[in-house]
Amino acid sequence: LPPLPSDAPIGRLPDGTFSRYPGATKFSELPISKKTIDGLKKAHYVSMTEIQRASLPHALCGRDILGAAKTGSGKTLAFVIPVLEKLHRERWGPQDGVGSIIISPTRELAGQLFDVLKAVGKYHNFSAGLLIGGRKDVDTEKERVNELNILVCTPGRLLQHMDETPNFDCSQLQVLVLDEADRILDVGFKKALNAIVSQLPQHRQTLLFSATQTKSVHDLARLSLKDPEYVGVHEKS
Ligand code: ADP
Ligand code: MG
Repeated sequence: LPPLPSDAPIGRLPDGTFSRYPGATKFSELPISKKTIDGLKKAHYVSMTEIQRASLPHALCGRDILGAAKTGSGKTLAFVIPVLEKLHRERWGPQDGVGSIIISPTRELAGQLFDVLKAVGKYHNFSAGLLIGGRKDVDTEKERVNELNILVCTPGRLLQHMDETPNFDCSQLQVLVLDEADRILDVGFKKALNAIVSQLPQHRQTLLFSATQTKSVHDLARLSLKDPEYVGVHEKS
């Protein structure tokens, strides 16, 4: 897909944002791979939720996204699909290393989104790992982490690998995702997140999703977002 000029009013979505696919209501109407479509079908995902309709056309064009929608609105697929599609289009393979890092604030949430990634990414050949600490022996993880294409992790465990894992390499990172971004950008994770981001390449796509809109200029600068698309879906009054 060629990128859209940022002021192109191709079509207006219910939430006021613009989309190249304004009429698309089903995943199958989006320009995504058969492998992803089949994974979605197999997991019984057919029609998009509002946040998915509003953000996917932009995210699939490679834009940075700042997405906000309440809990339960379907934010996971709004970043899982663009991650799979980016690596698919880049013909990412086992030897290419870490192509995407998805950061989640808690082990439980990381585990849940990992399950969604596995289900929807079922027909792709990417290797994905859940790096959340506690559960598994970190030394066993260290031996395998460099072979993974998609890392789903909590900030602490990711930083531990960056600090301790020999030859840990994310220099080819394509897509960074912060799920529950407001919680990750919170003071508790400040140090860890700054340390993580300082080790990531700046040329990448960044997708931020949370229940509330994060518009802090300071946070956006920290993450080096490039002209992000603000996608907010709010309950109608
Ligand atoms: P959020 O992260 O916004 O809280 P989730 O991504 O966890 O929301 O999704 C909430 C629930 O909605 C999950 O049970 C998920 O399987 C379901 N869901 C998400 N997208 C769709 C869809 N397009 N069609 C049907 N169900 C969906
Ligand atoms: Mg979520």
